[in-house]
Amino acid sequence: MAVFRALERAEDHPTAEELHTALRDLVPGFALKTVYAILRELADLELVESIPVSLGATRWEPNTDPHGHLVCDNCRRVLDLPVDPTVLMPLVRRAGRRFTLRGASLIVHGRCDRCAGG
Ligand SMILES: [Zn+2]
Ligand SMILES: [Zn+2]
Repeated sequence: MAVFRALERAEDHPTAEELHTALRDLVPGFALKTVYAILRELADLELVESIPVSLGATRWEPNTDPHGHLVCDNCRRVLDLPVDPTVLMPLVRRAGRRFTLRGASLIVHGRCDRCAGG
């Protein structure tokens, strides 16, 4: 489970490509398509999840507690926001759209500390 361990170590919601780069040196002949296959398998088992934001390549993280994300529009860094997105669900319910709720995600856009200065 080298892929899962690498994902647990990474704090920056890596893409499959970034995981592949990190593992290539440890596992000779490790193919990118293997990383994709393993991520899909782990996602089916609900051990990892992808971040619901379109930033080009899909970002992955180990599935921990529900939380939101801060996305830097400049460098595309994805940071954790310790808020349970399901707090939004009562608001949606109150809006009375006859919408059956399944889940919620929270993405906040802006600039990260590294980019704010420039
Ligand atoms: Zn940034
Ligand atoms: Zn996260």
